[in-house]
Amino acid sequence: MTTNKKLIGVDLGGTTIKFSILTADGEVQQKWSQETNVLSEGNFIIPDIIESINHHLDLYKMSADEFIGIGMGTPGGVNRKEGSVSGAFNLNWNENHKVFPVRDITEGTGIKTYLENDANVAALGEKWKGAGNNSDNVVFVTLGTGVGGGVILNGKLVTGIAGGAGEIGHITVDPKGYDCNCGKKGCLETVASATGIVRVARDLAEEYSGDSKLKSMLDDGEDISAKDVYDLAKVDDVLALKVVDKVSMYLGLALGNVANTLNPEFIVVGGGVSAAGDFLLEHINEYFLKYTFPLVKETTKLKLATLGNGAGVIGAASLVIEGE
Ligand code: ZN
Repeated sequence: MTTNKKLIGVDLGGTTIKFSILTADGEVQQKWSQETNVLSEGNFIIPDIIESINHHLDLYKMSADEFIGIGMGTPGGVNRKEGSVSGAFNLNWNENHKVFPVRDITEGTGIKTYLENDANVAALGEKWKGAGNNSDNVVFVTLGTGVGGGVILNGKLVTGIAGGAGEIGHITVDPKGYDCNCGKKGCLETVASATGIVRVARDLAEEYSGDSKLKSMLDDGEDISAKDVYDLAKVDDVLALKVVDKVSMYLGLALGNVANTLNPEFIVVGGGVSAAGDFLLEHINEYFLKYTFPLVKETTKLKLATLGNGAGVIGAASLVIEGE
């Protein structure tokens, strides 16, 4: 887009709110952040965002008419038609507490505002300025506290009839598996999130009797993390390698089937667990290749995310371009 007008990206999270001012080409020019005040049923959050934007525009001597729009990513269920959010429990916006950020922020700042769910904006960010290489066909999966995802096909974010598209974390990978927060059994999230990986490690440790640092840590009741599992696997701890192999099988199966269905150019893997880097990716790829059919195997590539925590705010800003 050739314009001197700028974009504002807002990434609303349960602990911090990140803000950026970007050019229409997605170059970040200013950024700041503040704590999320979730007290009083989260009623301070939207007024805080409006005040913070207005305050910073003052600070930078900028005015509302220098902006094309504001894009915001938020937890919870987004109703695009209404520009509303509900069910963002970490913001204290439960199902009965509907918030209207599009209306309120547009009114409060004088800048047109766009809204999308946080996993989807992270997907848009990686597509636009990260590992997605601005391809029109990108799937993003984030392995963190939970497993989230976003799908961009033919240049458009896929939302589905009720905003439920791209929920890769709830693909069933084991019909007899662990209970998931969503009410189902054996979702990818139950075995491939940071806590899921530890759960798999505990289970495999019970039936393992060989030599392993991971085994003795677990037997000693130490608190272990997904990072411990990957770090130990990298130095050939036998139990840790078994855990990584099992988790990779589940991820390869889920992402393989996503690829068989959508044939994106890239599946970008991000989130805290992806800090395990190429080691993580190579192990997933082994199974990914096993579970994809030839045309997809040859054309869909797994990649590591490159933007880290910055993906959300950049992707949020890109909502404005998409909306114009
Ligand atoms: Zn689930």
